[in-house]
Amino acid sequence: MAVATGARRKPKEVNASSSATIKAFERLGLRNPGDFAVHLPLRYEDETRITPIADAVPGQWALFEGTILHSEARYQPRRELHAVLNDASGHLNLRWLHAYPGQQARLSAGREVRARGEVRAGFRGLEIVHPLITEPHAALPDTLTPVYPTTQGLSQASLRKAIAQALKETDLSDTLPPPVREAYDLADFAPSLRLLHHPTPDISLESLERHEHPAWRRIKFDELLAQQLALAQARDQRQRQRAWPLAANPRVKRFLEALPFTPTRAQCGAIAQIQADLLKPHPMHRLLQGDVGSGKTLVAVAAALQAVDAGVQVAVMAPTEILAEQLCRKFSEWLTPMGIAIVWLAGSVSAQARRKALRAIASGTAHLAIGTQALIQDKVVFDRLGLVISDEQHRFGVNQRLALNHKGDQTGLRPHQLSMSATPIPRTLAMAFFADMDVSVLDELPPGRSPIQTRLFDDRRRDELLAHVEQAVRSGEQAYWVCPLVEESETLQLQTAVDTYDHLCAAWPDLRIGLMHGRLPAAEKSATMSAFRAGEVDVLVSTTVIEVGVDVPNASLMIIEHAERFGLAQLHQLRGRVGRGTRPSSCVLLYQTPLSLVARDRLRAMFETTDGFEIARRDLEQRGPGELLGLRQSGQALLRFADLNADGLLLEQAREVAALLAREYPESAQAHQRRWMAGASQYLRS
Ligand code: ADP
Ligand code: MG
Repeated sequence: MAVATGARRKPKEVNASSSATIKAFERLGLRNPGDFAVHLPLRYEDETRITPIADAVPGQWALFEGTILHSEARYQPRRELHAVLNDASGHLNLRWLHAYPGQQARLSAGREVRARGEVRAGFRGLEIVHPLITEPHAALPDTLTPVYPTTQGLSQASLRKAIAQALKETDLSDTLPPPVREAYDLADFAPSLRLLHHPTPDISLESLERHEHPAWRRIKFDELLAQQLALAQARDQRQRQRAWPLAANPRVKRFLEALPFTPTRAQCGAIAQIQADLLKPHPMHRLLQGDVGSGKTLVAVAAALQAVDAGVQVAVMAPTEILAEQLCRKFSEWLTPMGIAIVWLAGSVSAQARRKALRAIASGTAHLAIGTQALIQDKVVFDRLGLVISDEQHRFGVNQRLALNHKGDQTGLRPHQLSMSATPIPRTLAMAFFADMDVSVLDELPPGRSPIQTRLFDDRRRDELLAHVEQAVRSGEQAYWVCPLVEESETLQLQTAVDTYDHLCAAWPDLRIGLMHGRLPAAEKSATMSAFRAGEVDVLVSTTVIEVGVDVPNASLMIIEHAERFGLAQLHQLRGRVGRGTRPSSCVLLYQTPLSLVARDRLRAMFETTDGFEIARRDLEQRGPGELLGLRQSGQALLRFADLNADGLLLEQAREVAALLAREYPESAQAHQRRWMAGASQYLRS
């Protein structure tokens, strides 16, 4: 039995069944033997062979065997233990920080030992800091040693033991029927899994670490397949729920014909798709995706009109009050003249007005309720809620969406759901995460928009910028000036909205400067927005409260302070506030140096393209799907092994196989779900 030494190793024996260990396992999502079986290594250590010291390479993990030439404790200033290991080919320094007495005895000169660890180029030549020391001459393992993702308080040793045990106990029979494995050239499950836990040394480490080995391909495929099956299941479940069938009414057509503009082809397409969905007695679950300014509101209004004409109520929810108010204005402008009763419900509504709104919603005299999260409070009871529309859906938590969806429960029917999002979702992501939803895409902007010119400005050229902005504003343009924070934060050194506002007021005493941030009272916010919309404010200094959805067509200039601090999606949203009118628009990204590499990439992406899909693709590359979709808060199990940037093809195949299994091999589909989705599927969809 190997004797381990080294300061990191606690002398205490690990007890695999102790409650602390079980808790640590749970933190890693490891509960059932099956979970352990698919907890796969991050990397490997090669203990299968002994490396001659002369072949040691800095940065590489290796196992050496030799004799301790000498060892000594040094105080520099803490007690450190230094030893020199010698074999026929050369010698290597071993070093322990914080050494404890007794350690040195085990490393006295003349002892034969094995030492392993990562070789580094040290001050006195090659060294290993905190090597693991074991007895010499023991038989070497045949396979590489797995290093698993772990968590605090859980040693690799106890993980390895638990996983090895689970591999013995778990049923690893293949969930894919042989014809499927053959058709998609997939390796068998059990051998793939065993190989990944304990690869033989002849297998390319690179193909393992890059998840390119056929064994990895099989595991990634299985993971994607499980997700596709879960989404298909969610879709089936929805098909079994009932909803009000909402007959189409000629008023929708007349409404569209009476507009001062012609709806785009994309808008007409989306409206037709929604119309068809609403006719069905099952709840619609549709995502309306369209870049900022593509005209999603009109599509939503057409859907709402069909619903109201069919005799049900509609709830329209937006994540912020500014946005909800703007929706309310658009809906009212179009629908109030048609005799549709709209009530407004948000945090700032007075108690009396709220009571009145609640009564109208409960009695059914209100056809449409528009507001913020206030709509999902318990007190809000609908008479016949038939359609729920949520704007910028990714900003709501899953629970909020669920709550609104259940607002119609007393009728025994589920409302149809239309979610809108201006975050364009790359195809792979949509397939991976929204396969249970139908998606309509507004892939064209209304005609007559002029392209937005984006410029990057080093903050040191601020004076130049100010002169430019002043000139533009004096010639009748309106500008947004966006800042990241409200109050001075010493640590971040951000220029604040308040600061900027004071500055601009002082610089241009005769211009009309407005200030907008989240802490203003709601009434003041809405007064400021109205003034800006009416052209009574020249420059609106604002925090990111204006990020989503704000629509003031005359504003043609956007300055973003500290652009390097914003994410790509956020910059794209902000930039989308301009370019809505006929005037040529521009967006200035003001940045401070030095720039991090990531920030530089982001700014470059913004400069190079205004295409929301391209931006989303790059965002996915930079941040991964969780952030992009706002899924992190949902607790949804994101993919552990597959990488949507690299595994698009595999995802397509998994989707095909999911449909095939559901059709022809339902038991296989079930077995597959049991293996991969124990407990996870309830998170998948609200
Ligand atoms: P978003 O998709 O970003 O929510 P909006 O619905 O706010 O976009 O629409 C942006 C602006 O374009 C609004 O002022 C809207 O009235 C206008 N608009 C919508 N559709 C058309 C169209 N087909 N032609 C011209 N203008 C349109
Ligand atoms: Mg919008």
